[in-house]
Amino acid sequence: MGGIYLDHQSAMPLDPRVLEFAKTCLVEDFGNPSALHSVGLSAKTAVEEARAKVADLINAEDSSSIIFTASATEANNLAIKGTALRNAAKGKKILASSIEHISVLNSMKELQKGGFELTLAPVDGMGVVDLSALESLLSKETVLTSIMYANNEIGTVEPMQEISEMVQEKGMFLHADAVAAEGRVPIDVQKDGIDLLTISSNDMYGPQGAAALYVSPKVKLQPSLVGGGQERGLRPGTENLFAIAGMGEAARLARLEMANESERLKHIRDRLIEEISKLDEAYLTGHPTKRLAHHASFRFSRIEGESILLTMDAMFGIQISTGSACSSRTLEPSHVLLAIGLKHEEAHGSMVMTLGRDNDPSQVSSIVGAVNQTVQRLRMLSPL
Ligand code: PMP
Repeated sequence: MGGIYLDHQSAMPLDPRVLEFAKTCLVEDFGNPSALHSVGLSAKTAVEEARAKVADLINAEDSSSIIFTASATEANNLAIKGTALRNAAKGKKILASSIEHISVLNSMKELQKGGFELTLAPVDGMGVVDLSALESLLSKETVLTSIMYANNEIGTVEPMQEISEMVQEKGMFLHADAVAAEGRVPIDVQKDGIDLLTISSNDMYGPQGAAALYVSPKVKLQPSLVGGGQERGLRPGTENLFAIAGMGEAARLARLEMANESERLKHIRDRLIEEISKLDEAYLTGHPTKRLAHHASFRFSRIEGESILLTMDAMFGIQISTGSACSSRTLEPSHVLLAIGLKHEEAHGSMVMTLGRDNDPSQVSSIVGAVNQTVQRLRMLSPL
């Protein structure tokens, strides 16, 4: 392809070391982990080793706290619906921030239809959860609060420890969607006081088709699916051995390499932010410093994010995003950008760049040049 890929938040290439590690699960150690014979036992061992590596990445107290699922969407559904339904006798209030991923918001809305009372906590103009609003919205009946560790569209990292202290004091269980933060920010579920946490394999260079939900020993869940006893009965169905073994190895590598890689990407990110912010009517979205190391997001007035994306790809071979890959096909303005106070027309001009291992500082000037030319060209064509 030879272009510059800047959409690591939507999809990441598989790490060749992970492929090398996990490929035996496709051909040699292909067994069903529930089978009692030796081929099944080695498959079971591969799953348990992966579980321990994922537990290590987030400092879970025990590897049995990790439940593998097929996607982060599924883990979010299990966390939210599973906790609320199983613990409904203790309270019927549920709470989320207004910038959660759609898989969190829609799980919450489904519960709302079933009689739960849903409230959304506001964020400030940089996407940080409003802590005093959160405190006033929490109550003893708030059975579940879901606040993302960091936002995928604007890169803002939330003050998780302050949030968890509040939830522990005034509410019940805290779920954090850490898909954007994993492998970039050190996560410690015990220190951070998080009861349930979602992470996904591909967001740390692992194979697609695996994700995990951390469930603290104090939380009881109702499964979303019924079937056999896999994953403590919480996620029945034969395990995706290749994806799970790969996720474990990706987690091990992320733990070792995260600090250096984040530091490296931060320099590229800061140069992109500095240069792109100088362009005419270009504005950073999200927090300037409390943001993910690989994340640079902007809005431009008088042009559409989709046109930026298509022009950057077609003319310069640079792949960017306009926000959430999940909502970009709807052409609706992003709920995240509206929640940080942008008007509809402002929210339409958004551009998100997410860096990864294959990016380096020598690319900055080409990227900035391409953005500049794209923006000028689109503004010339714009009826606005
Ligand atoms: N949470 C966040 C923050 C995300 O960005 C995404 C999308 N990558 C998801 C959850 C859902 O992930 P998936 O589409 O892989 O289920």
